[in-house]
Amino acid sequence: MLIVMSAQATAEEIREVAARAESLGLQAHSIHGQQRLAIAVTGLREALNPMVFETLAGVIEVIPLTLPYTLVSREAKSEDSVVLIGGVPVGGPHFAVMAGPCAVESPEQIHAIAASVRRAGAHILRGGAFKPRTSPYSFQGLGREGLVALHDAGREWGLPVVTEALDERSLEVVCQYADMVQVGARSMHNYPLLKACGRAHLPVLLKRGMGSTVEELLLAAEYIVSEGNRSVVLCERGIRTFAEHTRFTLDLSAVVAVQRLSHLPIIVDPSHGTGKRHKVVPMARGAAAVGANGLLIEVHDDPGHALSDGQQAILPEELAELLAQLPAILPLTGKALAPHASIAATA
Ligand code: PEP
Ligand code: MN
Repeated sequence: MLIVMSAQATAEEIREVAARAESLGLQAHSIHGQQRLAIAVTGLREALNPMVFETLAGVIEVIPLTLPYTLVSREAKSEDSVVLIGGVPVGGPHFAVMAGPCAVESPEQIHAIAASVRRAGAHILRGGAFKPRTSPYSFQGLGREGLVALHDAGREWGLPVVTEALDERSLEVVCQYADMVQVGARSMHNYPLLKACGRAHLPVLLKRGMGSTVEELLLAAEYIVSEGNRSVVLCERGIRTFAEHTRFTLDLSAVVAVQRLSHLPIIVDPSHGTGKRHKVVPMARGAAAVGANGLLIEVHDDPGHALSDGQQAILPEELAELLAQLPAILPLTGKALAPHASIAATA
């Protein structure tokens, strides 16, 4: 339920609305618009009765939302949210590129790739230290050691870092070293992890489950935001279909659908979304053209020997070429490459 306050509402009137919600066991979340404040009230559906609030001073309208999610909806906030990741803005007019290997394999590997993705123009360094692998016999990641290497490489090259947490335990470690935590496609339905991310002080990159609808993705985001963390970036990474020419089917129309329904930024991962190197750059250009807020791309300097996902990693030179092409595409959707976090020491 959304309570729209009059532009002249006093602080006392706003407090009164929040207090009334809390006395009913509901949660009140302020949403600041350009003209006025709205209060999103969430909680058990049975307790959400608009009549209780309609007559309170300063209230001009109570909208009983028909959507199953509230805080992440466009109805609650019409302007695009911009999420800051270690100083890099993602969302609204800003288009940011997150790039790096699937997994951190060694300090030397991540330092070399950090240097090359920074030179190519990427904004954020990615690299998994806790890997959700399909087979238990595949490389599972370097854990804390990998996070230290990722963090050091990012700091050296002026790149904030994003990495996946698989569960609440790894989330604690990730929070010590990363600028953004990734919730992977397989974890989109891990509700305790989503709630823990909602209480964490890092922005969250939430990937769409490979068998999930857009509504389920937005409900997963609602879990995070309802716990207090508003810094959520969504990611379309492909869904399972009958197609055999591709590993997953990258659903670019989900970007358009999400932007209509939600104010949260959405980026696209054409690496997992296709599973094949030759499709990554064309689909990345497509993502920019449909209006995505950024890209998540796997890059490796020696894909033939990568410990995971080498078949879908592009070379640093290919990333540089893509970044050089983006300024021709982004103005079509009113976007531009985001500013970098800081000038890298040795770039
Ligand atoms: C990844 O980004 O390395 C990853 C495992 O992605 P997903 O969760 O989308 O499969
Ligand atoms: Mn991967």
